[in-house]
Amino acid sequence: MDTQPSKKTKFIFITGGVLSSLGKGLAAASIGALLESRGMTVTFQKLDPYINVDPGTMNPFQHGEVYVTDDGAETDLDMGHYERYTNAVMAQKNNYTSGRIYYSVIMKERRGEYLGGTVQMIPHITDEIKKAVLQLDGSVDVAIIEIGGTVGDIEGLPFIEAIRQLRGDLGREYSLFIHLTLVPYIKTAGEIKTKPTQHSVKGLLASGIQPDILMCRTEVPLDQSLKKKIALFCNVEPQSVITAIDVDTIYEVPLRLHEEGVDDRILEKLGIWTGAPNIKPWVELVDKIKHPHHKVTICITGKYVELKEAYKSLHESLVHGGIANDARVELKYIAAEDLETGEAIDELKECDGILVPGGFGSRGMEGKIRAITYARENKIPFFGICLGMQLAVVEFARTIAAMKGANSTELDQETPFPVIYLMKEWFDFRTGKTEVRDEGSDMGGTLRLGAYPCKLAEGTLAHTAYQQAEISERHRHRYEFNNLFREQLEEAGLVVSGTSPDDTLVEIVELADHPWFLGCQFHPEFKSKPMQPHPLFRDFIKASLENKKD
Ligand code: GLN
Repeated sequence: MDTQPSKKTKFIFITGGVLSSLGKGLAAASIGALLESRGMTVTFQKLDPYINVDPGTMNPFQHGEVYVTDDGAETDLDMGHYERYTNAVMAQKNNYTSGRIYYSVIMKERRGEYLGGTVQMIPHITDEIKKAVLQLDGSVDVAIIEIGGTVGDIEGLPFIEAIRQLRGDLGREYSLFIHLTLVPYIKTAGEIKTKPTQHSVKGLLASGIQPDILMCRTEVPLDQSLKKKIALFCNVEPQSVITAIDVDTIYEVPLRLHEEGVDDRILEKLGIWTGAPNIKPWVELVDKIKHPHHKVTICITGKYVELKEAYKSLHESLVHGGIANDARVELKYIAAEDLETGEAIDELKECDGILVPGGFGSRGMEGKIRAITYARENKIPFFGICLGMQLAVVEFARTIAAMKGANSTELDQETPFPVIYLMKEWFDFRTGKTEVRDEGSDMGGTLRLGAYPCKLAEGTLAHTAYQQAEISERHRHRYEFNNLFREQLEEAGLVVSGTSPDDTLVEIVELADHPWFLGCQFHPEFKSKPMQPHPLFRDFIKASLENKKD
């Protein structure tokens, strides 16, 4: 590699050991938040070892939510944590998979760019990874690079090797290794076990990486003697063994890590001087979350109800909406299929607000429509997101606008009233080009993706929420509101409150004779933050609180 580091940006590499799901993403985001609280600028990158080029085509059951950035990247859900905890804005360059790295190397090989050389894991794949990482060089004070998976995974080896090399390229004052591991408490023995951590650090050492800081996930605080023991076996100083204790709310993680001195250690090791951190906003936030004065129950009807990870950002946005209204938001997930048979309708009665989230495919569709009918007729606050908005249009068309059999062509190709349909072409303001699609288009990367502008009509719920004439929100869908039926639906009472600036794409619909009924074609959950709750979630929760019966 011949690129010279800028000597401006310092890199923190975070690896994980023992097992997955220890919360590496949250740890990375929290470290970013602490560094920002000391006045530094940060960015992030997630390196995912799997072979898919991006997670766009992956099943959210397996992988969790697909997060979308302004520039239309379909990314890992950790991008959501990064954006929610800091001011960093994520984009294509902030998430790489093995697949994307290999793809680019193979394309270069096909173009003959390697001049007849043998293309190998080292240096070609590792160089490609290093190039991806070094794109962030010079842009911020600190770049936090999270390596997905667990140390020891075969797939992860090229990434581990690349960051090992980067330490040499960047130098000690410009690179830092943090390893997140598990220190389990064995109830039957009443003991805390350090062996898994020792083994996982040995695994890292075998790859040539000595961690500088260990963050230990644990149920019980680690005392000094345990920290000393871990330090001794893993070649780190006892003060660099950080307890990452289980917390009540994920927004407490920055505070707990700060108490353990993680930010001090990082600055010391990277030779950075800053003033004292301003963690007050986080203290106040956690206090608000832990001591709300109100409670509200929101029902979510979806397909992925079994796996909450599939609705990560949505879940967080509802919590943020609660923060804005001094309320604890209880979520009740109802499987849409159970609503189809009618057996779960009673459960809806216990909810103060009903939300139908985004989704793909036809499973449980009629159940979701029943939930919408219930919300509309009983004046329960309703929020439809993407698919939820499309189904609200279908429901309205069928019941109010007398379009019997109305549907989205995603669900019924033969419907006499295709109120939601596959848009074959549209004008992309950002590129100034007309985008073209058809039924045979590739599944990967062919949706309407990323940020699009939307203009709001005055006197509507949307305008009341945003208090702005034009907004920008992120999209991820293939189907659209069909303008052929717009006039008829509007005459029947559907309010179109948000459209693309040229008026060709309907982005928000609502009902006038209802306390709060709104559907949006975009995904507002990708732009809500705990410190800046999204206006639509804030107002939906507010309306749901007002609707509370008891
Ligand atoms: N399946 C719908 C579409 O493709 C909605 C997608 C979504 O909810 N994200 O348009």
